[in-house]
Amino acid sequence: MRYSGFKVFTEGLFGNKGWQPAWREPQPKSEYDVVIIGGGGHGLATAYYLAKNHGITNVAVLEKGYLGGGNVGRNTTIVRANYFLPGNSEFYSHSLKLWEKLEAELNYNVMHSQRGQIVLFHSDGQRDAAVRRGNSIANQGDDAELLSRDQLKRMVPYLDYEQTRFPIYGGLIQRRAGTARHDAVAWGYARGADARGVDLIQNCEVTGIDIENGHVRGVQTTRGPIRAKKVAMVAAGRSGQVAAMAGMRLPIESHVLQAFVTEGLKPVIDSVISFGMGHFYISQSDKGGLVFGGDLDFYASYASRGNLPMLEHVMEAGMTLMPMIGKAKILRGWGGIMDMTPDGSPIIDKTHIEGLYIDAGWNYGGFKATPASGWCMAHLMATDQPHEVARRFRLDRFRTGHLLDEEGTGSQHNLH
Ligand SMILES: Cc1cc2nc3c(=O)[nH]c(=O)nc-3n(C[C@H](O)[C@H](O)[C@H](O)COP(=O)(O)OP(=O)(O)OC[C@H]3O[C@@H](n4cnc5c(N)ncnc54)[C@H](O)[C@@H]3O)c2cc1C
Repeated sequence: MRYSGFKVFTEGLFGNKGWQPAWREPQPKSEYDVVIIGGGGHGLATAYYLAKNHGITNVAVLEKGYLGGGNVGRNTTIVRANYFLPGNSEFYSHSLKLWEKLEAELNYNVMHSQRGQIVLFHSDGQRDAAVRRGNSIANQGDDAELLSRDQLKRMVPYLDYEQTRFPIYGGLIQRRAGTARHDAVAWGYARGADARGVDLIQNCEVTGIDIENGHVRGVQTTRGPIRAKKVAMVAAGRSGQVAAMAGMRLPIESHVLQAFVTEGLKPVIDSVISFGMGHFYISQSDKGGLVFGGDLDFYASYASRGNLPMLEHVMEAGMTLMPMIGKAKILRGWGGIMDMTPDGSPIIDKTHIEGLYIDAGWNYGGFKATPASGWCMAHLMATDQPHEVARRFRLDRFRTGHLLDEEGTGSQHNLH
């Protein structure tokens, strides 16, 4: 079924009785060419591009809960391409270009909104770093623009410009950055993959990975064994647990990251704003809620819930930057499990086991990577060669020393 404004209109006229489920609920088959462990954004995007770009459709995505119940449905939805280092910058640049065509590609409204992201700076040193980053982004072919304090005052007048502790000197804006509706991205990819023949199996936890003579043979699941020629581990915060089933120990720590949303308010914030001196960034959802978050809770955990000290820390930073937020009432807070690598950059690679692949280490920035991650993982699995924009995301870089240390955003607390 093709979605369109005309379809919405005619369905409205006839009682909305013509809609069909967005994907099937198939029983797992005993064998597939490819099994993908994890029905988050990256797993679903990998399945979609395997089918769409490479014609590989005998694929199952195995999800232990429901599609979109993991981090893809828990993030604060920021989409940007403002990375500094070669390796990261071309990858996220590729991803942003895919985002810009995603709704047409998937025939699905993912509410991608290029409302701009402003990263504030609060000292001469931070301004120098922002200029350097802006030049690097421009060299990659993406947009970056320095805003003076006066320009900022006109654009976002509600920030506290008079505070003396962290005076605002200006900001670096990427106008093509913005937000998207997080779970709609999972649903859009799920629908597109299903339409091309991929089996999406929910409530199917992988409990073991079968390996014989260095080759992957399939997986054990709560719904029985499934044989597969190739298996992809795409389990984000639970990557360490899944890889352990193949006897692997990953350079990944799992940490909790929290987010918060207020009651719905009239439109007030029309961009994404990141505080340069505290752990706070904010946007406003299309429903009106102010959506904001901060830094990791900083202890390794598989519990997707946060703690009160970090809640207090984020609220303090919000009040420092934007005192008007003190009048808003918080509706909800939640946590997700972040797969943190030591250098803050991801892994898209083969493993030492033939036929077993890994896509992990997305830290707190994997939502914006969803299209390119799926694109590059599908390329790797179909051709056994890394895609050119993901060739530095190697698993062995932590052993060989070829780190992609973007800005100390990895799992080491002392580097934040
Ligand atoms: C609070 C918060 C804010 C964030 N903000 C941003 C942001 O603004 N911008 C941004 O780019 N990124 C952000 N992120 C990060 C981003 O959400 C993640 O990096 C990204 O979603 C991870 O990839 P995924 O979607 O595939 O993960 P997930 O959705 O977590 O998918 C992994 C799936 O694997 C499944 N799984 C695990 N183990 C098994 C098993 N044994 N068998 C079967 N299935 C299994 C899980 O149930 C899960 O559904 C944020 C994250 C959080 C928590």
